[in-house]
Amino acid sequence: MGMRISVIGSGYVGAVTASCFAELGNTVTCIDVLKEKVDSINRGRPPIYEPGLGEMMARNLKAKRLSATLDLAAAAKNSDITFICVGTPSQESGETDLSYVRGAAAGIGKAIRRKKTFHTIVVKSTVPPGTSEEVAKILARESGKKPGKGFGVCMNPEFLREGCAVEDFMKPDRIVVGSMGAKEGKILASLYSRFKCPKLMVDLRTAEMIKYASNAFLATKVSFINEMANICQRLGIDVYTVAEGIGYDQRIGRRFLNAGAGWGGSCFGKDVKSLVHVAKSAGYKPALLESTVSVNESQPLRLIEILHDELKVLNGRRIAVLGLAFKSDTDDMRDAPSIKVIHALLRLGAHVTAYDPQAMENARRIFHGHSISLAKSSHEALKGADACLILTEWQEFAKLGAKDFRVMRNPLVVEGRKILEGKIPGITYRGIGRLPYG
Ligand code: NAD
Repeated sequence: MGMRISVIGSGYVGAVTASCFAELGNTVTCIDVLKEKVDSINRGRPPIYEPGLGEMMARNLKAKRLSATLDLAAAAKNSDITFICVGTPSQESGETDLSYVRGAAAGIGKAIRRKKTFHTIVVKSTVPPGTSEEVAKILARESGKKPGKGFGVCMNPEFLREGCAVEDFMKPDRIVVGSMGAKEGKILASLYSRFKCPKLMVDLRTAEMIKYASNAFLATKVSFINEMANICQRLGIDVYTVAEGIGYDQRIGRRFLNAGAGWGGSCFGKDVKSLVHVAKSAGYKPALLESTVSVNESQPLRLIEILHDELKVLNGRRIAVLGLAFKSDTDDMRDAPSIKVIHALLRLGAHVTAYDPQAMENARRIFHGHSISLAKSSHEALKGADACLILTEWQEFAKLGAKDFRVMRNPLVVEGRKILEGKIPGITYRGIGRLPYG
């Protein structure tokens, strides 16, 4: 029989976690502070774009296994297990802003004050080591109960990737269950009993650190290949061929070796910066992680260097930017390289026309008050352009051919990632660490 679950935060992680647990036969209530997200879920529409999520939500809503509310207290009281999936953004210093996590913990604590049965609270948000222990203290203070008696605390990091989040959630490489006591660890593990992947039962801090170390490694892998690309660029070597050559080595692996304009998204930047902050606070200077961040900060601007190289003057030029989301199959623009690139182009006096298959609503918000044109299609963006930058590896852009680029005034294409396969007649092609043609 399924469990009664509440999920606080209905963003990328919360909405997917809630829908997938409902799909597995549990009764799930989503909670958010934003009424539009709650209303959207109750209409069977995901508050974010994620392939496959809409159908899953609608199905579970109809089966009455999924609903959403603004009322945290009622949802927590009427469930046995509550997942905290709220945002954990970066502050200026790199330190994580834990106010949403603390707020959620205080809300749950108050809600379970009079609850007679054991309640399991699971931190799924990515948090610095030690945070879940602090969550336990907040819960104890607000509920008047003792950890391990009236409630238990787990830390269950999430490794899903936006764009394939549902599949990643349902078929994870591993599940990490961090717990304070054995009771809540068993309860959480039983929720995942149908999953066949390796499961690690660890303490709270280890679970928190596994997530940080995973993201730090992946970000470093990307910054590594980007550094190789910058060197290849100067030596006239194609970095994608180098990536293939090193990727066959099983100790290295080909994945996450796609050189380009740098990583973006809501996680890598904030998590690596947070780990740097944690390390420094513990008296260690993490030189490698600091370099990972600094390589990434200048990487988007390599595209501007290439444009400069080709066009000489950017002032007054019309630049088409295709792809605004930080990766394909998402509408998420948090920390996307496109933002840095577009601001640099505007500073240099270029006229930017941008298009993305899913992120236009976010783009409208992010570039509000800036003089950029938002196009309805690749065609509209490309028309009359002096150059085209492709920043996101959407399939739609991979299908562009010679006739699509013919509408440009000057058929120069600069890629942030390898998207266009093979030579397209009539265009001048450049990319970071790629051999030019045309
Ligand atoms: P998000 O910003 O998309 O969603 C967070 C949601 O929490 C928002 O809808 C916000 O309104 C809501 N919220 C904040 N405070 C609340 C409160 N007190 N009560 C109810 N709702 C509240 O964030 P996200 O991308 O889903 O990330 C959530 C966490 O998961 C972060 O810690 C992140 O690092 C981690 N994570 C994210 C991803 C990813 O790919 N996005 C992957 C793994 C882990």
